[in-house]
Amino acid sequence: MYDAIIVGAGPAGMTAALYLLRSGKTVLLLESDSFGGQIASAPNVENYPGIPHMDGSDFADKLLTQVTDFGADIDVTRVGGINKMNGFFEVITENGPVASKTVIIAVGVSHRTLGIPGEEKYFGKGISFCAVCDGPFYKGKTAVVVGGGNSAVQEAIYLSDICESVHLVHRRDTFRAETSLVECAKNKSNIFIHTDSVISEFFGDNKLNSMVLLNKKTSEKTNVVCDVLFEAIGRVPENKIFSDIIDLDSDGYVISDENCNTSCPGIFVAGDCRQKSVRQLTTAVADGSAAALAAIDYLK
Ligand SMILES: Cc1cc2nc3c(=O)[nH]c(=O)nc-3n(C[C@H](O)[C@H](O)[C@H](O)COP(=O)(O)OP(=O)(O)OC[C@H]3O[C@@H](n4cnc5c(N)ncnc54)[C@H](O)[C@@H]3O)c2cc1C
Repeated sequence: MYDAIIVGAGPAGMTAALYLLRSGKTVLLLESDSFGGQIASAPNVENYPGIPHMDGSDFADKLLTQVTDFGADIDVTRVGGINKMNGFFEVITENGPVASKTVIIAVGVSHRTLGIPGEEKYFGKGISFCAVCDGPFYKGKTAVVVGGGNSAVQEAIYLSDICESVHLVHRRDTFRAETSLVECAKNKSNIFIHTDSVISEFFGDNKLNSMVLLNKKTSEKTNVVCDVLFEAIGRVPENKIFSDIIDLDSDGYVISDENCNTSCPGIFVAGDCRQKSVRQLTTAVADGSAAALAAIDYLK
């Protein structure tokens, strides 16, 4: 019987583990893939306070060492759900059920991708999923943003102050984004909007350097030379497995209060998988500490 089981060993889950362990609690950290979560695939992080430059995988390794040095038990296994028992929880994993007095859900999100042949080759090598994270590396360069919602248009506007030019590519003729945002993008002289268009091919050697845009109405093909593509076509929270025990919003994010309490007492949530507006390393670790402190309070 653990004091806390943490589902997902990204920055949020590992920060929660650190706080729980330092207050003498027993912790099991369950990770389905690789320890560190999304940040492990970020080659250069420049917006973590106090550390001007860091390699994301290095940061993930250090965090894992920090929590295992404090005595966390770890297991590489996918969690499939949580059962509420009499006074404790049973966490269902591929390796069998494990019991705990509290559970912290920190399963993050995955990013929807375009699914174009050859796309994967350029992940981290010219294709990014976060303009706030990676935009500043492309000062004075040419960026392409794909997507039609608020995130895509906001990213294009944000990048237009950093990059020399920004191409905004959307498959439909109208944007889902708020009209005011679309108007703002249209008024920027260095944003070039391509509606009814999809990306059909990528080119580059080790790094993406150009792509072909196909206009679906006219069948016209345009070659766009660029330094980076930001894919803003949606994030996918993987919270369905918890929907029978805690409340999710209509997009599938876990609903919680500011202390990371969910609708089920004893289950807490931290990081990108929770309903919130900013999904960054800083907010993930902030949630991890808040969720752990709420769990410690609950254990009293
Ligand atoms: C390429 C890239 C670059 C980035 N750069 C920056 C940056 O420069 N600055 C910044 O602030 N942010 C950056 N981010 C965003 C940042 O990495 C995330 O906001 C942060 O990692 C969220 O942490 P998290 O712990 O909530 O979730 P995640 O990092 O997504 O971790 C969740 C973990 O849970 C695991 N998991 C999921 N489902 C299960 C399950 N059923 N069972 C067990 N384990 C499960 C996953 O495998 C994963 O390891 C970047 C993201 C990416 C993808």
